[in-house]
Amino acid sequence: MTAELVPTIGLEVHMHLATRSKMFCGCRVAYDARPNSLVCPVCLGMPGVLPVMNKLAVELSVRMALALNCTIPDFAKWDRKHYYYPDLPKNYQISQYDQPLGINGYLDVETPAGTRRIGITRVHLEEDAGKLMHAEHGNYSIVDLNRTGTPLLEVVSEPDVRGAEEARLYAETLRQLAVYLGISYCNMQLGQMRCEPNVSLRIGAGPDGKPLYTPISELKNLNSFRSVERAVTFEIARHRQEYLADPGNYTLAKQGKSTRGWRDDEGISFLQRSKEEAHDYRYLPEPDLVPFVPERAWVEELRKNLPELPRARRERYIKMGLSEETADMLLAEAFVANFWDVFHETLEHHQGAGKWPIKRVLELANNWTLQDVRRALNEKTIDAPSLHAEFAKQLADLVVLVETGVINRNTGAEVFNKMIKAKLDLNPKSAAEIVKEENLAQTSDSSAIEAFVDQALAANAKAVEDYRGGKKASFGRLMGEAMKASGGKANPQLVKEILLKKLGG
Ligand SMILES: [Zn+2]
Repeated sequence: MTAELVPTIGLEVHMHLATRSKMFCGCRVAYDARPNSLVCPVCLGMPGVLPVMNKLAVELSVRMALALNCTIPDFAKWDRKHYYYPDLPKNYQISQYDQPLGINGYLDVETPAGTRRIGITRVHLEEDAGKLMHAEHGNYSIVDLNRTGTPLLEVVSEPDVRGAEEARLYAETLRQLAVYLGISYCNMQLGQMRCEPNVSLRIGAGPDGKPLYTPISELKNLNSFRSVERAVTFEIARHRQEYLADPGNYTLAKQGKSTRGWRDDEGISFLQRSKEEAHDYRYLPEPDLVPFVPERAWVEELRKNLPELPRARRERYIKMGLSEETADMLLAEAFVANFWDVFHETLEHHQGAGKWPIKRVLELANNWTLQDVRRALNEKTIDAPSLHAEFAKQLADLVVLVETGVINRNTGAEVFNKMIKAKLDLNPKSAAEIVKEENLAQTSDSSAIEAFVDQALAANAKAVEDYRGGKKASFGRLMGEAMKASGGKANPQLVKEILLKKLGG
């Protein structure tokens, strides 16, 4: 009688919004501050204080809901969710219970089996609680309330996910969207994104034709994609085993829901508590906040201003001739993708469409962005937000100067540093301006280069002798000396040719 057991998984994902201040007070949101230093009477839940809604948090939430193809209802409200725990000083969390700000959306997820459309039940906004740390030695805990009141977006999916890998891919796709839109930084180590899969197996249908399920277990607070996949894999196997051992008893109708933790080091889940039902939380409408009644025009404005979403952009990149891998690399951060678009467009404009194959353009972008831009990012001479369109254009102009032989690659790197310096001095200069002002253009005049080569040969008789005696490595030395004699401006290709000729091939 064993019917096919079909994993039926929904995910609740929490994300800290990328706001500077908390949800209902002016306290700063930060992760490296001294414990309990970013608090005030509002987020400490002192009697008589009043919450004030963070407008940006609401706007970011609606943007995310729109990007998830949700309907934005005309009316959403705030509710108090009551529970008693030391990380929640006011004994209730402000959340959205039955009227959230986004409903009925979907997210398309690429999987090895093709595109899967996962329904989004709801998107709602709430506040995070504080952080309890349990003492390693001794029977006590300490609490840090800096996190209390941080704006927290919850995205709840339909139970459309059918396996552990799919659960991971869903969470990764959601993260990409949120990071890309600037909704959240989703740094999982910092707890800015937490996943809670609800796992159950469909075990056939009842006499009335309705599907039957194993009990639902909710895995709490998974903070890496790897643990999402591992924990769901474990849980599916556990459900299967428990069901097959006692099919009459291991059902949702008999056992309901439970909450489970995940021990990543041991690779097992463990029972925390049988799950609270909604009435345990005694939800009440929040009396201190007005409901959220968005103006249609405002919502439409936000919809209109959504950027091209990662999925559409990925398709465009692949049509452009980029590999899937490269497209994903560019899309991992919005500023890198934006940078690429401007860079590519500028080079096309200079060279005419199709003159440089896309592979070559990518190679150039890689060479310059990975080497020079990345280094500057690492050394913090520039920061990611300053890599805006204007700078991408300037860099593309510089690359054109190198590629068309106006300056050589080494001078190019030097000009790049000068461009950054000029930018930091708030006196931005184009590559062409710097080349002209400092007279850095490359020399391709062969008689001038011949003179530099002669100079290098005369001054390095020993290296010449070594080279002729078979020590081919001496060539590099002579090449370097000739380049130096030219002040670094000689066309290296010509130097090489002339030097080879003079050394007798
Ligand atoms: Zn506060």
